[in-house]
Amino acid sequence: MKSLSRSLSNGHYAKHNSALGPTLATLLLFSAPQHAAAEWLGDARPMMGTEVSVNLWSEDPAAGQLALEDVFAEAVRIDHLMSTYRDDSAISKINRLAAESAVATGDELLQLIQRSLDISVLTKGAFDITYDSIGQHYDFRAGQRPDEKTVQSELKNIDYRNVQLDQLAGSVRFLKVGTRINLGGIAKGYVVERGVEILRRHGVQHGIVTAGGDSRLLGDRRGRPWMVGVRDPRNDSQVAVTLPLQDEAISTSGDYERFFDEDGIRYHHIIQPSTGEPASGVRSATVIGPDAVMTDALSTSVFVMGVDRGLRLISTLPDYESVVIDANGQVYFSDGLQQPTNGSPDRGEENSPMSLKDDGFSL
Ligand code: ADP
Ligand code: MG
Repeated sequence: MKSLSRSLSNGHYAKHNSALGPTLATLLLFSAPQHAAAEWLGDARPMMGTEVSVNLWSEDPAAGQLALEDVFAEAVRIDHLMSTYRDDSAISKINRLAAESAVATGDELLQLIQRSLDISVLTKGAFDITYDSIGQHYDFRAGQRPDEKTVQSELKNIDYRNVQLDQLAGSVRFLKVGTRINLGGIAKGYVVERGVEILRRHGVQHGIVTAGGDSRLLGDRRGRPWMVGVRDPRNDSQVAVTLPLQDEAISTSGDYERFFDEDGIRYHHIIQPSTGEPASGVRSATVIGPDAVMTDALSTSVFVMGVDRGLRLISTLPDYESVVIDANGQVYFSDGLQQPTNGSPDRGEENSPMSLKDDGFSL
């Protein structure tokens, strides 16, 4: 039996504030009256092409503010290391040079690339950081996508096995010209994992770090679980499922994060490495578990693998659970999630709506 048994709430819950837009994990937690000494502190900043937010309970607000700033500084540092949008990042240097000769990476990047490659093996190539050979040709803001010819030629460059790491030398080498890597499917999980480590080091016991669709919860909400909503993929003011969680990571990958619609087809940012096209069949995939690096990479993987293969993969990972919403809006749960007794979770509208009030946020 799984060690995790989580109960679900369900229904279409009204969010109090959808004005922050679809890419944001809207935090609605902290409008409760503040105490003079101990209080909830929080801030959200645009970063990594999305929003990073930190919220924490602090007995000493000045110390809490320092902890918060440390987390944002860490997110900036990681972004500088891993962004493909910056010519001076370590990843950009690797993409420019690693097909010619081995490039020294530094241990931190080496280990995250190694984890990415391990997850490629685990997911049989559904997760593949070399997707970027095709990914680089998309511009979602401008509504641009690669033409068929480009997809076919770049598809040959997608294969994680062309990324060779030398752990002893601390270097990476591409075995094929045209290979590119992008850690967009795992870096935000890394940011929130590191962020929570920093909060812990500062003595924080209750908090949340969120980067886009990835969150890590530290402790509970002072005696109550955090209520984390998985949003309705086609209505950003609605929540499809609510999960009471504590001390866990949760990541959602959705086709509504970065996309444009053209001739009735949705072109979004999660690429099926076997075809080079945006993965179809799923609107959102959520993964819950102890480690945000894993939940981030696995949510992207489950999205690519689809409902059946995705949930089968999750059933082999005892600490991880998943909620998948397919192209028809049907909701599927992994075995370890305890479903509500008073109704079927995929028929939320039949249950009476419940306000999230100040208890929760949604991804
Ligand atoms: P977000 O939190 O940005 O919504 P996800 O965790 O859903 O991110 O990951 C999507 C990102 O992962 C894309 O923007 C892209 O950078 C990267 N990506 C897309 N397809 C794949 C894939 N098949 N394997 C690994 N990474 C991918
Ligand atoms: Mg992900």
